[in-house]
Amino acid sequence: MAFIQYAVIGLGRFGSSLSQELTQLGHEVLGIDRDEEKVDEMSDKLTHTVVADATDEEVLRSLGVRNFDCAVVAIGDNIQASIMAAILLKELGVKTVVAKALTDQHAKVLEKIGVDRIIFPERDMGVRVAHQLVSPNLLDY
Ligand code: ATP
Repeated sequence: MAFIQYAVIGLGRFGSSLSQELTQLGHEVLGIDRDEEKVDEMSDKLTHTVVADATDEEVLRSLGVRNFDCAVVAIGDNIQASIMAAILLKELGVKTVVAKALTDQHAKVLEKIGVDRIIFPERDMGVRVAHQLVSPNLLDY
């Protein structure tokens, strides 16, 4: 398995779970959140953590985010912040940008920006669980 550097923006339920799992899988993870409490909770679980506003271009530049292989925008509720962070990550040249979407409209904008992969956590998990219920022997879908 290749060693990959990930930046995860937004350490809510989705972002914190994702970033912890990536770390446990042996990857380097930078977790970013503007909420100091969220960052404190994750500081001993991830390779690096920082309190920062991911909609600020200078902040992303100074963190060297463009050198990361993959960045995940795990901001949900604040659609404007999610879109702004995704635009900046693409502009900075991050190879793979993944983003979480809450609505179809949100996803459409992310797609137009050029986000490489869009995730609907609840919707995707619903599909996955349905498949697991139908085929209980299927461990991973
Ligand atoms: P989840 O369901 O994963 O808990 P959510 O859909 O409720 O998340 P939000 O609460 O909007 O999503 O965002 C998740 C995290 O992103 C929060 O911890 C929030 O502080 C962080 N966040 C929001 N905007 C920014 C920003 N501009 N820069 C950095 N972090 C941000």
